Amino acid sequence: MTEDLFRRLGLAEVNSGVCAASWIEDPGGRELASINPATGEPLGRVVMVTAKSYDRIVDRAIETFATWRTVPPPVRGELVRRIGLALREHKADLGLLITLETGKIRSEGEGEVQEMIDMCDFSVGLSRQLHGLTIASERPRHRMIEQWHPLGPIGIITAFNFPAAVWAWNAMIAAVCGDTLIWKPSPLAPLTAIAIQRIASRVAAEEGYPGVFNLCVGDAEETGERMARDDRLPLISATGSCRMGRRVAEMVGKRLGRTLLELGGNNAIIITSSADIEMAVRGTVFAAVGTAGQRCTTARRLIVHESLHDVFLERLIGAYGSLSIGDPWKNGVLVGPLIHEAALNQMLAALEAARAQGGVVVFGGRRLDRPGFFVEPAIVTARPGMPIVAQETFAPILYVMKYVQLDEAIAIQNSVEQGLSSAVFTRDLREAERFLSPEGSDCGIANVNIGTSGAEIGGAFGGEKATGGGREAGSDAWKIYMRRQTCTINYGSEIPLAQSVKFDVVPRQPPIGG
Ligand code: NAD
Repeated sequence: MTEDLFRRLGLAEVNSGVCAASWIEDPGGRELASINPATGEPLGRVVMVTAKSYDRIVDRAIETFATWRTVPPPVRGELVRRIGLALREHKADLGLLITLETGKIRSEGEGEVQEMIDMCDFSVGLSRQLHGLTIASERPRHRMIEQWHPLGPIGIITAFNFPAAVWAWNAMIAAVCGDTLIWKPSPLAPLTAIAIQRIASRVAAEEGYPGVFNLCVGDAEETGERMARDDRLPLISATGSCRMGRRVAEMVGKRLGRTLLELGGNNAIIITSSADIEMAVRGTVFAAVGTAGQRCTTARRLIVHESLHDVFLERLIGAYGSLSIGDPWKNGVLVGPLIHEAALNQMLAALEAARAQGGVVVFGGRRLDRPGFFVEPAIVTARPGMPIVAQETFAPILYVMKYVQLDEAIAIQNSVEQGLSSAVFTRDLREAERFLSPEGSDCGIANVNIGTSGAEIGGAFGGEKATGGGREAGSDAWKIYMRRQTCTINYGSEIPLAQSVKFDVVPRQPPIGG
């Protein structure tokens, strides 16, 4: 299966993980193995970046930026439009590669490529809509405008669980904004990054702008931190754990750079007494178990009205019992493996902690006796004060809790340090609106009668509190990739000052004949 796929995507057994406009054949770094989490076997190897090859990338990105920023945005959009066409051609292959490298099921792998295509389409439209403002001036015959300029070469650090879409959220918008990019993908999914980079850099070269998209496969401490400290990169967009975000924020903050942080979530669904149970069960199962619980937006906490608790739990256990777990590339499978042994061990340790803190594992939680990192998704009945419930364990554990009053449920949902996604299932307008009001959910995403995951690209994506505060993808998320300039233009013949300040200078006349 992999031999033909690798040939079609331009992958080899040993790949260079470094592209500065063109591929650096021997980037000089250590070798990294990409592991298929469904088998535990290596898929291929990648040679990582060194300090020297990293500098070549940054030099190239700076050099390209000098011309790319002057290209009219709709022409930049044309490059992105062509990347969208190329992604359409390779959708099935890229989707399968994502499945092999991350363990997500086939339709989710292809869904991720579709998300990249959607981002291309969105960014092409945006390339004709990068708009500023005209602002009323208090001074006669003056005009104020606000305009947006390209920012520079930017750094993009991505997580393993969305190895393709998150690059597109950033890269497609940043490219039409006139920035050049340096991408450090997760060391857990380097082959997906190389396959995408092959497509993007080929199209960029054909359009006459090699060097817009650049890649450096490297590890967290050496390469990731080098980027965070590098004051040649005015923006670091980083997606990953809260631990990583704190470290990156500290380093970028120290040099007064800009960050866009998309960090962990501990997302909750509230099921009120008026909920449509059928819809709520289906919405909860996808949110809690989809991508084997490895989405930043995965539902990790379920807060159910006491009147429905027992019946809902029973229905949920029935639904979990019918889930097919197995090779993620096979039809009908809904749950693939976790990313690695450590993730599996973290899940088992979290279940142990939950038991010790008074929780009861009412379904699942056992490792499957087969190669790879497979585990049954788990349901745990819990209490809100249990310390383990406040943590993001990046695995399919759903903690189920009871509530009596809606405000109590909202308080439980807001009681964690993260603020990414949230949802309520209700048929009561007052409950829905209270949840969406300023007294309601404190998250960046708040849904009604939809689970916590599976966002569309048209909205701005991201979360509050320890999730980092960043926004990516749609709406006006593009503004972070540009620098804002306020300009005042005087088309009169006087120099009036703002706030009526008087500063009348009478220039001395030059001596006659002098
Ligand atoms: P991770 O934090 O281990 O790694 C993410 C990326 O950051 C990788 O490329 C890694 O090499 C790099 N990195 C790690 N430490 C670094 C450091 N000190 N300096 C610079 N770079 C560093 O996360 P992961 O295990 O790959 O992904 C899972 C986590 O990501 C979860 O917490 C999940 O919620 C979060 N996530 C968030 C979003 C979002 O949009 N909010 C999306 C996807 C994943």
